[in-house]
Amino acid sequence: MAKTAQVVVVGAGIIGCAVAYELARRGARVRVVDRRAVGQGATQASAGVLAPFLSAHEGRPLVELGARSLAMFDEFVARVVEDSGAPVQYARGGTLEVALADAAMSGLRATARACAAHDIRCDLLGATDVRRVEKQLSDRVAGGLLVHSHGFVGAVELAGALQRAAGAYGVTFTSSTAAARVTRRRGGLRVELAGDSIACDRVVLAAGSWSGQVEVDGAPATPVRPVRGQILHLGWPASRLSRVIWSAECYLVPWSDGSVLAGATIEDVGFDERATVNGVQHLLAMTREIVPEAGAAWFRAVRVGLRPATPDELPVVGPSASLPGLVYATGHYRNGILLAPLTAEIVAGLVLEEDDDPALGVMTPSRFGKF
Ligand SMILES: Cc1cc2nc3c(=O)[nH]c(=O)nc-3n(C[C@H](O)[C@H](O)[C@H](O)COP(=O)(O)OP(=O)(O)OC[C@H]3O[C@@H](n4cnc5c(N)ncnc54)[C@H](O)[C@@H]3O)c2cc1C
Repeated sequence: MAKTAQVVVVGAGIIGCAVAYELARRGARVRVVDRRAVGQGATQASAGVLAPFLSAHEGRPLVELGARSLAMFDEFVARVVEDSGAPVQYARGGTLEVALADAAMSGLRATARACAAHDIRCDLLGATDVRRVEKQLSDRVAGGLLVHSHGFVGAVELAGALQRAAGAYGVTFTSSTAAARVTRRRGGLRVELAGDSIACDRVVLAAGSWSGQVEVDGAPATPVRPVRGQILHLGWPASRLSRVIWSAECYLVPWSDGSVLAGATIEDVGFDERATVNGVQHLLAMTREIVPEAGAAWFRAVRVGLRPATPDELPVVGPSASLPGLVYATGHYRNGILLAPLTAEIVAGLVLEEDDDPALGVMTPSRFGKF
């Protein structure tokens, strides 16, 4: 017999989990389906860095979206922790973007000017001061930009806590269940699964890189492609890093247990989720370039994820014009963790017909055609 739900969310990555939680908090009856377990798509590989102002000088809409979402994070994490009873690693110790040569300092100066213009607290540091702030940095580091409001969150923990918090509001999660198609039915929508289906009023498509594989009645395939990212989880030999270190080729995220994430590659290789010798070698070389002592680090894991990228690198969030009742929440590329609170708020407002956020203008699916 066909199952029913008010809202079906397809995909239990950080986006699907955050959306389901927010919908349920507002009173909706929600069901989440995923073909894997919760958070086992791109989310499990994510570094969880929350740093919208690293590209402030580019002045893109993404910086504004990121800034809005970052401003929501303290309250978001506190609420999810309270509703779930699960701890979530979360720190706002800033990011230190480093330049490995004098020439790269001009980029940091431009970012510092853009931050200052938006009242974002930051410090531009020369070679001596940057090593005073982070002692382990290599002699090659010519300077750095410290942006105080940035930070990171444990992405896997956050997804797990969101699942529990959503569960406390009655959301049901079904794993090992792939959605094949979303179709019309009299008075609503139907999500077709293998040998089964769910009748519902609304559907949120949050299947990350795989969103284009879920057929939507009357619409072309969602314009999202996978971009592979490999990241290392290292036992850290040296003294602790105080904050996220960011360079053009690599970043380091110091976890509270003393280990470090070193990421990440950016590779256009389709749906290939394997870790490679080249990827690991590149990350190790770049890590040692910033912190030479990292040569004594030991392996805890190599993680691989497929970031959902769109042609303009902005998310696809908004209602479908082809299939009323379907809302897209995908294409978050390198910023899905950062943008989760904002996406959840915007999508919940849309699904429950409470409000249309102005940010939908830059994220609308219709910029790519008749979706
Ligand atoms: C190495 C790496 C580092 C990153 N670092 C950062 C960072 O520092 N900060 C940041 O903000 N972002 C970062 N990101 C990006 C971030 O991880 C992603 O943007 C985010 O995880 C996307 O979340 P999602 O829920 O859209 O997709 P996913 O997490 O991929 O979830 C999609 C889910 O949909 C499910 N699914 C797929 N097809 C179907 C189907 N047919 N039916 C049902 N379910 C389906 C999948 O199984 C999966 O669980 C990083 C990504 C990588 C790979």
